[in-house]
Parts: sequence; C-alpha cells; structure tokens
Amino acid sequence: MTSLYSINYHTRAHKRDAFIEFIKSLLLTPFVLHTRPTISTNEYGTAASKLGDKRSASSNHHGSAPPPLRAAASTADGESKARPEAYAKNVERYCEILQCVEELIADHMEHQEQDLLELSRLSTLVPSIGRFFTTLPLKSSFMRQDAKRSIAARRFVPPSFNDVRAILNDAQVTSIAPTIKLITFDGDMTLYADGADFARDSDLVKLIIDLLRHDLHVAIVTAAGYPGDAAKYEKRLSGLLAGFRDSGLPASALERFYVLGGECNYLFCYDAKDAHLKYMEPETYQPADVTKWASDAPRVKELLDVAQETLAQCASEMGLAKAVGLLRKDRAVGVVAEEGVQLTRETLDEFALAAQRRLNNHQRAQQTRHGAAPVPFCAFNGGSDVWVDIGNKLIGVRMLREFLGTHGNETLHVGDQFLSTGNDISTRTACCTVWITSPEETAEVLTELCRLLDARGKK
Ligand SMILES: [Mg+2]
Repeated sequence: MTSLYSINYHTRAHKRDAFIEFIKSLLLTPFVLHTRPTISTNEYGTAASKLGDKRSASSNHHGSAPPPLRAAASTADGESKARPEAYAKNVERYCEILQCVEELIADHMEHQEQDLLELSRLSTLVPSIGRFFTTLPLKSSFMRQDAKRSIAARRFVPPSFNDVRAILNDAQVTSIAPTIKLITFDGDMTLYADGADFARDSDLVKLIIDLLRHDLHVAIVTAAGYPGDAAKYEKRLSGLLAGFRDSGLPASALERFYVLGGECNYLFCYDAKDAHLKYMEPETYQPADVTKWASDAPRVKELLDVAQETLAQCASEMGLAKAVGLLRKDRAVGVVAEEGVQLTRETLDEFALAAQRRLNNHQRAQQTRHGAAPVPFCAFNGGSDVWVDIGNKLIGVRMLREFLGTHGNETLHVGDQFLSTGNDISTRTACCTVWITSPEETAEVLTELCRLLDARGKK
C-alpha cells in the first residue's frame, strides 16, 4: 500500500540526503526539548513561563521591574552568566548523539567487512546508506564546527543541513588525512564558478600545488567533455597550469596531476617537460570491462538517441522548446538554456529525473528482451544545464584508483553535486567524499587538509 507519507517522501527524495536528514532529526530532539529561548522575567512579572530556560530565568530578576536602564543591563549580565552552563549542557547533549552515530558507523563498517551491510542497525535506520571507507570522528568535528558556527549556542535555529554537512566534511578530512594518496575534484562550482576558467589568483592554485608537494595524486574528474582535445581543458584550467609553471615543483610532483573529462571518457596527464596536458590512450589505463561498453559505438549512439528524444519531449511538455537548445556531443547530450534564459532548479531536476527514468526503463527492457548488459550513464542537473553522459564518475574514480593503485580509504572526492540528480553522488561507492557548495568552501576544506598533511609530514 502506498501511503501519502511515502508518496511525499519519494517525490522529495531527490532534494534530500538521507544520512544528513537522519543526523539532523536526531539533533532536533534536544533542541526542541531543552534549548529554550531565554525569557526575560521582566516581561512576565512573577509568573515566569515554565517553558523559559530555568537556568537563565533563575539568574534573572524576580518581582517588581527595576528601572528600564538597569533592567537591560542586569538581564544582559544574567544571560552572560547563565549562558556557559546552558551552552555546556547543549554541547554535551549534541556530543552524546554524535557519539552514538559514530558507534552506528563503526558497527556498519564491521557488517560491511563481512558482506552483511544490509543487516547493520544503520541500514535499518537509513535504508539507502552505502559504504564507509573510514570511521568518522563526529564528536571532535562537532566541537571544531561549533566554534565556527555557534551550533550549540543557538536557541532559535536548530542544527541545519549545512551544519551537519560541515561536521561530516570536517570528520572525513580529519579521518583520511593520515592515509590519503589520491584526491579528485569536480570542476564547476568546486574549483571555479559554473562554466568559468580556473583563475590564476584563486586560492585553490596554491592549495592544489601544496597537495602535490605532499606527494598526493591530484585529478580533476569533470563532466566537461572535449574528446581528446587537450587545448580546451588547458584553457579551462589555465590559471592552475600557470601556477604549476611558476611553482618550482619537481617534474615528479607535477606529473602526479591528471584530468579526466566526460565523467570517465578522456584521460590526460600533465607533462612537465613541455608544461602541457597530454592525452592518454584508453588502452594504457582502461580496464577490459570498461573498454567493452566504451567501444560499443552502436549501443552508445542508441542510448544517446533515446536520451535526446526524452529531453526534447520533456522540453516541449514544459513549454520550453524555444527557451532551450539540445547539444549533442560524442558521448553526451545536453539541454542548454538559450541566451537570457534562466532555468529553475525544479525545471533542471525534471529534465534529469525524466531522462534517468526513461533510460533505466529502456535499458532494463533491452536486458530482458535481448540480454544486453546496460551501458553506464549519468543524467544530472549541472546547475545551469542538464546532461546525459555516457559513463559516470564512479567509473572514473574507480579507474583512477586502479591505475594509481590506491584504495577507498586513501582516496577522497570533493564535489558539489551529491543529490540524486547530481553527478558526484556515484563516487560514494568508490571512495570517501566531501560535499562542498562553492570554490570558497573547497579552499576552506583544503586549508584544513594541508594543515593536517603538514602535521603528517612532521611525524
Ligand atoms: Mg559541479
């Protein structure tokens, strides 16, 4: 039976992350029950509300109201004395919850080691939960993020999606720093603004050079697909490559930099000799199972034809046939807004979900009728456009991992598209991830990672 609740949940699921929502809902309980707005008893007289914060109320004045000026001063003073105790209690409650979540993750990892992932308590509570590659020290990350975001001190705004995301990011970076060998980045909105080029004066140039200096492999795994065209990627990454030339880093460090375009289709490595990106032939890195579908041109074409037809139909149904154009590439088809047109997030999601559903159904039917193994694809909302790409970033990160010989607990992907209509979410199956929302946030995360790598180097 389908309840209204489950319909509502499923129609909004593409806008939510189940694990973050789960943690948020746990933190909401102490916020609702214990974190009460301070009530000035001056406003209530002797009948102070029982729902006011008792610690604050008891340190405030009771009885007749003092002159206004003194009242304001002593109320403020009362609050400042009461706050540390109330605040400390909130920290304790939030930490207790995060400690329990840490234990749930540890238990989940024990189950996943025995291939019994779906039997863990966390799987029961969050059915869509996937694999964890490291434990997450959520309690200590909460303390660091609380210092920045005043989470436990807030009385009106409960712990939010962004608070929990920041705690998870902090915990992930802390946990992977001692073992990290490969870091992969999405491009648009992670390293630079949508459609922009990498600027020479971006803080991220210095930070990425720092990562290479710390012996990490660094790869940009982007949807942008320019088949075998190094010059186009060099233009998008011009600021970073100029930074490489000025860095003074040895060739051995710079040549640990890669660009993987079209999700997983075109790999380039940095050639320090002539300071350019060099296209790598698929035979040199592509596993046989990927080559099998990647070189099956008729099936790739057929899938892109179905995608194109679906996107065109969707545009026409939404009355957008004149507002958008369809762009067909070698291994992708996209919906791009005409000049002066701004598509809403809802419209972009509609395109992405329509394409996902149609292509999944199409491939399932093909498999049932003809036994044809599905061709991996990725239909996603790119922020200002929508693309259906052949392949996905899960395959991309897995290939890099195999090629460079790293494991999931040594690999970190940083991206901005982790909802079900995004193209970074698939990497969660291959490695640790950090979910940022802007290049500025990427810089914040990398500053912390570089600080931890410095400490690692000194040990
Ligand atoms: Mg992006």
